Amino acid sequence: MKYISTRGTAPVLDFEDTLLAGLATDGGLYVPESWPRLSRETLATFKDKSYAEVAYEVLQPFIGGTPDNDRFREILQSAYQAFEVPEVAPVVPLGGQHYLLELFHGPTLAFKDVAMQLLARLMDEALARRGRRATIIGATSGDTGGAAIEAFRGLENIDIFIFFPKGRVSDVQRKQMTTPTDSNVHALAIEGTFDDCQALVKDMFNDADFRQETGLAGVNSINWARVMAQTVYYFTASAQLGGPDKEIAFSVPTGNFGDIFAGYVAKQMGLPIAQLMIATNINDILARVLKTGIYEIGDVVASTSPSMDIQVSSNFERLLFEATGRNAGEVCRLMGELAEKRKFSLSPDVLDVMRASFAAERVDEVETAKIIKDMFETDEMLLDPHTAVGYGAALRSDLPTSTPIVTLATAHPAKFPASVEKACNRQAEEIIDTPERVQVMMKQDEKYETYPNELAGVQDFIRQKKTD
Ligand SMILES: *Cc1c(COP(=O)(O)O)cnc(C)c1O
Repeated sequence: MKYISTRGTAPVLDFEDTLLAGLATDGGLYVPESWPRLSRETLATFKDKSYAEVAYEVLQPFIGGTPDNDRFREILQSAYQAFEVPEVAPVVPLGGQHYLLELFHGPTLAFKDVAMQLLARLMDEALARRGRRATIIGATSGDTGGAAIEAFRGLENIDIFIFFPKGRVSDVQRKQMTTPTDSNVHALAIEGTFDDCQALVKDMFNDADFRQETGLAGVNSINWARVMAQTVYYFTASAQLGGPDKEIAFSVPTGNFGDIFAGYVAKQMGLPIAQLMIATNINDILARVLKTGIYEIGDVVASTSPSMDIQVSSNFERLLFEATGRNAGEVCRLMGELAEKRKFSLSPDVLDVMRASFAAERVDEVETAKIIKDMFETDEMLLDPHTAVGYGAALRSDLPTSTPIVTLATAHPAKFPASVEKACNRQAEEIIDTPERVQVMMKQDEKYETYPNELAGVQDFIRQKKTD
């Protein structure tokens, strides 16, 4: 499989080069040259297969033979062994047409583990084959950093440096980054905001000498391999609920549009999907664009679902590319307009294409808290605030009651105990079933450095600490 950029001028790459490149050199995002299709007969076999076996069928066409098929199967087996339940991503009924897809059984209790565990192994493999090392750098507002560190810790060919805004991540999130003792892991608390951390990462990538000297690579959600890995659970969920003979809808708590774009990919590959519901919190740029056709960047407002507190939704560019009929020139024009005016308008045709697959709903803070409380009081079921946003949007869907609607449960409530406690008006310890491994982790010693928000100091730290 070859990969092309949404902006049309970056080199065409194979899978491994796309994996290691992250962003394309023309500023665009890589997408496969065409969507592989899975036959109905193939889809019908998925209900009897393990998660890793389905992953092999779904992902092999994107990999194109490097790593070879046997090795790829081994990598998949190993990646999903990191999960607490054998199904990896179980489907749980909520009553009526509603279901939850639990994506939080990985080591850091959020869905980002599902893709990161695979991405890390694929990168290490690609580097080993090339006799190269890489330095991963990444900024995090909370969940990505822990998932990345957990996935890359102890790998031979990679050092990882994660920057988080000092004092602005939850205790669980910080401990997940600062308790691993592996020598290739480095967590840095930056005296600044998440945006400052992201700017540091961007500046380092733009420093050509530094980039070359350290072999920088990125793992943020624009990396194609992350989106690719996330398509698998749409297939396994559908298979458990009567697919491919039945159309299923999905409601996806959305920030950077990576997770829900993976659902769109599954649909392009032939999975019968009735609707993809974009569920946003009060940072609702994606809900607004679907309703009005205008994509306009506002100010980020802090919410109880912080992993969705985003205004610029990077992966939306991939949908723009699709909805314009893969018109890279038009994507360049729209992204140029966005850079200049902080907004652009979609043509009615493009909007129609999007509305054929997607719906969108905004769920505010009051409603999110109410959903958490109601679910707890009526069903003794605890939802984390991100999942509650997804379920709130699912409840507003206008689909017939015969269509199952699956809400993606993107985090475990133990990751956001303060919000859950407040919504239910009960002590967190009394109601949240915190996994034992997390309880153990919370008592471990932390190791991290604090740095001012200055590029030079952070770069020196990386030069000193990276393995030669
Ligand atoms: C990252 C994250 C999201 C948003 O996912 P996107 O792919 O950025 O849309 C939702 N919920 C949780 C818990 C997350 O960590």
